[in-house]
Amino acid sequence: MRTLVHIHDLSFAPFISETTIQTRVKELAAQLDAEYAGKNPIFLAVLNGAFMFAADLFKQLTCQPELSFVKVSSYVGTQSSGRVDELIGLQTALKDRHVVIIEDILDTGVTMDKIGTLLQSEQPASLAVCALLLKPASYKGKHQPQYIGFEIEDRFVVGYGLDYKELGRELPAVYQLIN
Ligand code: 5GP
Ligand code: MG
Repeated sequence: MRTLVHIHDLSFAPFISETTIQTRVKELAAQLDAEYAGKNPIFLAVLNGAFMFAADLFKQLTCQPELSFVKVSSYVGTQSSGRVDELIGLQTALKDRHVVIIEDILDTGVTMDKIGTLLQSEQPASLAVCALLLKPASYKGKHQPQYIGFEIEDRFVVGYGLDYKELGRELPAVYQLIN
């Protein structure tokens, strides 16, 4: 694992190693397989941050998972109500399906609440969240996520899909901001 990583104006130190991540990914996959085998689950990976986690998780899953990549897009609607959120990229009907959202990180939980609300209207049979990282101190989401890789302190992290101003996503490990 590299020592310090410099991205734009900031420096980051090694935090969660590639080996530690891969071990945890295998454990999460085993848990998901136990829950979803025979249920024809569909996993929705949230772009861009979750791409690497989703890819590694999928290599371990044996529950015959389907995969779709989605993105939350916020736009100014035609009504005066201000900004509207929509989930783009979804091509499969989710009604009566077992759905698992794959996210990179849950911080305040606002993003996940938005996604949860949008997906509940599709009437899935079940809806669960699998996130690589959770910041418990700042998380105020409506639901406790079911599958979490690591609980971390409220520090800014990059790598393994997570970016700082669009850079750092390619790093195979997670790094934390140093000052
Ligand atoms: P939330 O809505 O839960 O506050 O924030 C979720 C989103 O904020 C994540 O999907 C991610 O894009 C971004 N985010 C939150 N914390 C971090 C962090 O420590 N590092 C990076 N790179 N992104 C973060
Ligand atoms: Mg994200």
